[in-house]
Amino acid sequence: MKGKMNLIIMGPQGVGKGAQSEDLARIYDIPHISTGEIFRKNIAEKTDLGKKVSAYIEKGELVPDEVTSEMVFDRLSQPDAQNGWILDGYPRNAKQSEDLDKWLKKNDKKLDAVILLEADSALIASRIQKRIREEGRSDDKPEAIAERLAIYARETKPLIDYYAQKGLLRKVDAQGDVPTVTKAIRKAIEN
Ligand code: AMP
Repeated sequence: MKGKMNLIIMGPQGVGKGAQSEDLARIYDIPHISTGEIFRKNIAEKTDLGKKVSAYIEKGELVPDEVTSEMVFDRLSQPDAQNGWILDGYPRNAKQSEDLDKWLKKNDKKLDAVILLEADSALIASRIQKRIREEGRSDDKPEAIAERLAIYARETKPLIDYYAQKGLLRKVDAQGDVPTVTKAIRKAIEN
């Protein structure tokens, strides 16, 4: 199934945004744009952007909004993103969602849906533990995880209401295995 689908995927760390985004990107033939992954790649390649952002990421803090939004809009302007995209990890606060709204308006584009993945905290904790064992992300240390959770609760969660008011929010139970959740997401956005 071909895209033309502009999607945001939201939810706390460990809920499975990355795995679901990969599946959706394949199904709709749209790029999966993960701000965290782009930052990690830049850090690994020691680019100027990587040097600018590594200290924030190590601590689990947000990279400044101007840096993040500029990077996202540059990515959304690439040729492969002209038929849709799935944004994972952005926007993360009110300023970023305003930046995105302005960019969409300016570029005559619109969001099709904001998917909110939900799971109980015990399951999320066990998925984070699994990721720590399997991926060895340098920011998966207890202090950085706690900081990211606090930022999610304080700055990102309010965006749920923002997108609900716009009629874009689709809540999806993320407690099943990846294919089951993918199916539920498709149902939520295609209906
Ligand atoms: P993630 O892979 O989504 O957990 O992101 C890893 C880290 O990258 C975060 O803890 C932040 O330091 C940084 N980051 C990712 N997305 C954003 C964003 N939208 N705004 C600011 N910082 C971000």
